Amino acid sequence: VIEIRNLHKSYGSLEVLKGVDITAPAGHVVSMIGSSGSGKSTLLRCANLLEDSQQGEVIFMGEPVTWKGSGMTRHPGDKRQMIRIRTNLSMVFQQFNLWAHMTILQNVMEAPVTVLKRDRAEVEAKARDYLDKVGIGDKADAYPAQLSGGQQQRAAIARALAMEPKALLFDEPTSALDPELEQEVVRVIKALAEEGRTMVLVTHDMKMAADVSDHVVFLHQGKIEEEGSPEELFGNPRSDRLRGFLRAGQ
Ligand code: ATP
Ligand code: MG
Repeated sequence: VIEIRNLHKSYGSLEVLKGVDITAPAGHVVSMIGSSGSGKSTLLRCANLLEDSQQGEVIFMGEPVTWKGSGMTRHPGDKRQMIRIRTNLSMVFQQFNLWAHMTILQNVMEAPVTVLKRDRAEVEAKARDYLDKVGIGDKADAYPAQLSGGQQQRAAIARALAMEPKALLFDEPTSALDPELEQEVVRVIKALAEEGRTMVLVTHDMKMAADVSDHVVFLHQGKIEEEGSPEELFGNPRSDRLRGFLRAGQ
């Protein structure tokens, strides 16, 4: 579904991504691990077209994403293509970014109604299903501030699912949570993986990465240092850097 080829990204003179290739085929979960500043979030932002890149290709559902312009003014060449990609590639962030002045149900319904122009009654029925699915059906009429962090993150996941995307991108979805709340979110992500959803998951939670991934990528200073199955990466890390990284996380 998502293919990133030879991606290079710099901020001014700072080279953040130095030629990264990542493929997430349909139904696969690809996890990205690596130390702070290695470029994980930047890669997700490029995949989702929140950022332009200097070199390389993003191919989504077989469709190469084209950019026009140069330097700071580059933008996706085709606005409709951008909307298609944004709606088919939902992102869940570390900070849940729910709209504080809307109820949980309104948060989940907002984009399908306003962006996709779907029928309100249908969207509401589905939104309630997604809230049930992530275990907070009873919170539909509450406001974000009335929910725990784990519940807010599950609401953010329901909101991403409500777009019925082809793939989901997660950027450290559990790292803002207390350990006990983290598990609620891990369970939801595991259930999505078992359903065969296509996901790219940036995480510091090695146990979750080992449990849910088909493929794990270890990013170091903007390059893939090592990649493979979770068994290979966690069970038999080859590079000193990965060994050091895994040891430091114990
Ligand atoms: P973390 O684990 O801390 O989230 P990360 O692997 O997600 O780290 P990125 O957020 O991708 O790292 O950042 C990679 C590098 O790019 C960092 O050195 C960061 O300071 C720099 N960077 C990120 N966004 C910008 C920006 N908008 N402008 C300038 N530099 C940026
Ligand atoms: Mg990050």
